[in-house]
Amino acid sequence: MFTTVTIPAAPTFLSSMASLKSSLASSSVNGISGRSGEVHVIVGPMFAGKTTALLRRIKLEDDSGRSVAMVKSSKDTRYAVDSVVSHDGVKFPCWALPNLTSFRHKFGVDAYDELDVIGIDEAQFFEDLYDFCCDAADKDGKTIIVAGLDGDFMRRSFGSVLDIIPLADTVTKLTARCELCGKRAFFTLRKTEETQTELVAGSDVYMPVCRQHYVDGQAVIEAARGIIQSQKVPNDNHMKAKQVSTF
Ligand SMILES: [Zn+2]
Repeated sequence: MFTTVTIPAAPTFLSSMASLKSSLASSSVNGISGRSGEVHVIVGPMFAGKTTALLRRIKLEDDSGRSVAMVKSSKDTRYAVDSVVSHDGVKFPCWALPNLTSFRHKFGVDAYDELDVIGIDEAQFFEDLYDFCCDAADKDGKTIIVAGLDGDFMRRSFGSVLDIIPLADTVTKLTARCELCGKRAFFTLRKTEETQTELVAGSDVYMPVCRQHYVDGQAVIEAARGIIQSQKVPNDNHMKAKQVSTF
């Protein structure tokens, strides 16, 4: 059984496309200004120089006379205003916030309107990253430079960093040096038995590794976790038994 499908007249479609093109070519649509924003994303494992790369770009924008601001997660600090410091000692004043939605209000609405460039460090900790980047670049015409971990210690997507790749003008994946063999390191290995995704720490807990040493290291750590877990159960029972007998 075959039926004939009638295709709508092509000239109607073409003329509506022409009118869309001409209205897009004029300066503004729905009150959105002609100023065009950008989104640039810097990802990689820990110790890959993501903050250094972010600060370098922010500094360049600042030196060229553009108005800049830096934001980072407040998860590891108690203060509203802080600094981002890279490993090579470059320092920049920074807003430490629990989320990005609060930035415009905290920074000041008028001051926000004057901003050209916003740097975001530790982006994996911001749950509202996608909406913020979308609004700031598309509607407000800001250049957003984002630095964050693409994956956690299990190589799973971390926070919303990967969600903003479709919004990005550019994506840069940086690498570190494998702590065990010196080759290029793409992954972050957690050296301890803790298993929660977010554990804010440095080189005492994490190390950058190549693929081979990630696989080997992960196997060793998984085995150690197994031993620790099997030892924990009798200890916990012992503690409970002791507490019960005390009461
Ligand atoms: Zn290696």
